[in-house]
Amino acid sequence: MSFSPLILVINCGSSSLKFSLLAVDDHRPVLSGIAERLGLDNAYISFKDAQDVKTTLTLTPSGHQRALALLIEQLDQRGMTSHIVAVGHRVAHGGSKFKQSVMITPEVLDDIRSFSMLAPLHNPANAQGIEATMAVFPRLPQVAVFDTSFHQTLPAAAYTYAIPYEYQQELQVRRYGFHGTSHRYVAESAVALLGLDPNDHGILVAHLGNGSSVCAVKNGESVDTSMGMTPIEGLVMGTRGGDIDFGILTYLARCTGKSLDELDDMMNKQSGLLGISGVSSDCRTLQEERSKGHPRASLAIDVFVHRLARYLGGHMMSLSRLDAIIFTGGIGENSSLIRELTINHLSVLGIRLDADKNAHTCGGKSGVISLTNSPAVAVIPTNEEKMIALDVVRLANIC
Ligand code: ADP
Repeated sequence: MSFSPLILVINCGSSSLKFSLLAVDDHRPVLSGIAERLGLDNAYISFKDAQDVKTTLTLTPSGHQRALALLIEQLDQRGMTSHIVAVGHRVAHGGSKFKQSVMITPEVLDDIRSFSMLAPLHNPANAQGIEATMAVFPRLPQVAVFDTSFHQTLPAAAYTYAIPYEYQQELQVRRYGFHGTSHRYVAESAVALLGLDPNDHGILVAHLGNGSSVCAVKNGESVDTSMGMTPIEGLVMGTRGGDIDFGILTYLARCTGKSLDELDDMMNKQSGLLGISGVSSDCRTLQEERSKGHPRASLAIDVFVHRLARYLGGHMMSLSRLDAIIFTGGIGENSSLIRELTINHLSVLGIRLDADKNAHTCGGKSGVISLTNSPAVAVIPTNEEKMIALDVVRLANIC
């Protein structure tokens, strides 16, 4: 098989490595996959090609290096390696320094490592993935695309926490926001889908997945977002609690003797939809249980929707006007129930959904689901890999 030039997109986590190979000409994925359980027993790597054919291989030894080596072996066997012209890396945290994607140099790699304090689970793994990929492809341009950089346009009023100011100056405590690549892709797609003026619009994006966040986009720039210095703040998520009265944590520490690390674990891994329902962090399971009358599954969905509507309403105040609310992410793209409940909760805005369009715009479909256009509600599947590939093409000057 012959291939046009390809971009390799790598998203290296602490125990996983996701990858996609996209064609430069039309950004179609020709191969994608994930290596999981890296560093643990039973690690594996799975591949999905353009025809949806899946292959899974075990990984021994199970580290990132071996995963990358097996990926390259597979690319070689499929005749793809020599067509790769550049690599894009998803990087969790770019601090206040990286306001957009950049070509990776040794200095940039040092900076990515230096932001590990702010993203201890992600940045070290991201840096490791970059190093390993550079060793395999020393001559290819490599680009870092940061989850935080889209939100670097937030005004100080939106990113400053009301704690002693020295912590912002000395320890970089401020709102950074995440999911920036997704919010940027979806907001740009919304401008195209709805025929909005690129220099004069107001959009709210609700990225709802296992991690969830809202972003207010004004004239192409992020002006407010719900995640904070870390991805715990804001909405109710799969296992993350989102906003909480800090007093609850001190109260729990006193009552239960839990340490800071234990409370951190509770907020990250035992809260959110899982914590409320006691059943699952997965929205599909909760919807099923709710339909059977499970009270805590119902409550979990109600709290999720209440918080989301509250955040959408609040973020609207950072815009001059509202043209559209866009749903994306696994829940936003697929759950007509969550979309319906959320828009009903926002009845003060006078938006009405088209029930048929809402029910049928799922499973990767894109489209407007509201009855009137003012403001519109739409579903736009996110595509972070494509956004990363577009940045790579632009920065590496690939035609
Ligand atoms: P991540 O943040 O890990 O990338 P995803 O964007 O894949 O997560 O979203 C995962 C969430 O999407 C899960 O809660 C899952 O239940 C939900 N989801 C996927 N498909 C559906 C569906 N058909 N109906 C409701 N929720 C869905």
